[in-house]
Amino acid sequence: MTRWAMVADLRRCVGCQTCTASCKVTNATPVGVQWRRVLDQEIGEYPDVKRAFIPVGCQHCDDPPCVQSCPTTATRKRADGIVTMDYDLCIGCAYCAVSCPYQARYRTLRASFAYGEPIDSEAMTHRAERLAVATKCTFCVERIDDGLAQGLKPGVDPEATPACVNACIAKAMTFGDLDDPASNVSKLLAENRHFRMHEELGTGPGFFYLWDAGVLDPSPPLPPPPGSSPGHALEGEGKWSALRGGQA
Ligand code: SF4
Ligand code: SF4
Repeated sequence: MTRWAMVADLRRCVGCQTCTASCKVTNATPVGVQWRRVLDQEIGEYPDVKRAFIPVGCQHCDDPPCVQSCPTTATRKRADGIVTMDYDLCIGCAYCAVSCPYQARYRTLRASFAYGEPIDSEAMTHRAERLAVATKCTFCVERIDDGLAQGLKPGVDPEATPACVNACIAKAMTFGDLDDPASNVSKLLAENRHFRMHEELGTGPGFFYLWDAGVLDPSPPLPPPPGSSPGHALEGEGKWSALRGGQA
């Protein structure tokens, strides 16, 4: 089987938002819609404070609450793990947006353009079928499917790889097949400490975050509660705990 997944290396991301811009151009998302966002967070306690940049978007969950809550089957999960949208079936009820723990969904009720009236490029890329329905990151599924049809390898061949991965100036984003132990993403996960957002919810995100070198249990324990022995926590772990536990 194939399980497409995204890996973001938090040590490499510099928060430039090139991935966000690339996504917007590639997918022609309207004003105010960012399928790929980059969170800018302060981590730690003064004076040991750092900034972290965290790419977020649809996590293409193994057990997606959005699929369960959709009353029309507009949202579905493919066998390869990609969670898809059928705009023809969507009635715009936004149940999916409410049920998504990652705030990954958008619903735009009316067309909006950067300068009021659409400029030429906006007029060309405006997608009327995306008004009053739910939209989200698709992992650039058209690029993946077209690439596979041409014998290309998603995550390796740029033509078959999500636009955000291609655009990243720091090579912080990697896309590949989680079910292939020899794939780029499998190797990164085997060689680096990592976490998924809101692991405790059981949604099984297909989006992983690398935060330190070294092989480790893929689901490292949460740091101990305040007041317990500090020796139990992994080195450097505390600075990421808020991301794992609560802030998408
Ligand atoms: Fe659905 Fe949200 Fe998971 Fe994406 S991140 S699959 S929109 S629940
Ligand atoms: Fe399904 Fe569309 Fe309603 Fe979301 S907004 S739950 S995709 S019908």
